[in-house]
Order: sequence, then structure tokens, then C-alpha cells
Amino acid sequence: MNCWHCERTAYGTCIFCGRALCKDHVREMPHIVALYRDGRGDHRAIVTVRALYCGVCEPREDPVALPELG
Ligand SMILES: [Zn+2]
Ligand SMILES: [Zn+2]
Repeated sequence: MNCWHCERTAYGTCIFCGRALCKDHVREMPHIVALYRDGRGDHRAIVTVRALYCGVCEPREDPVALPELG
């Protein structure tokens, strides 16, 4: 698989959209891996700070509200 931006061999893939990325074009962005409720019923998020990001697909900075979880 080659980089989405150029034709070089990909190093990884964007965690948000799956585009392949070489080392020159890969970017990093915080990513929420999982949401869960703790023992008191509060919502918690597990976040990885340096997820691979393609720079193209523009994930939203603010987590999208999921009212059905409440
Ligand atoms: Zn590239
Ligand atoms: Zn992407």
C-alpha cells in the first residue's frame, strides 16, 4: 500500500479514515479510543494522544454528543 499523498511506501494508516501514509505525510492527533461509564455513572473517555492522522479527513475537534448513551 502506498501513501495517499505521494507514491512512496506507506508507514501507517489514518486512524480516522484509513488512508495510507508515509513517514513524511503522517500527522498526529488525539483520538478517543473508547467511551465508558465508571462506577458512579460518569462518562469517561480513553484517549490516545498521538494517533496517526492523514491531514485530509478533518475529524472534529470536539467529540460528537451521543445522547442515546445518557
Ligand atoms: Zn507521502
Ligand atoms: Zn484521515
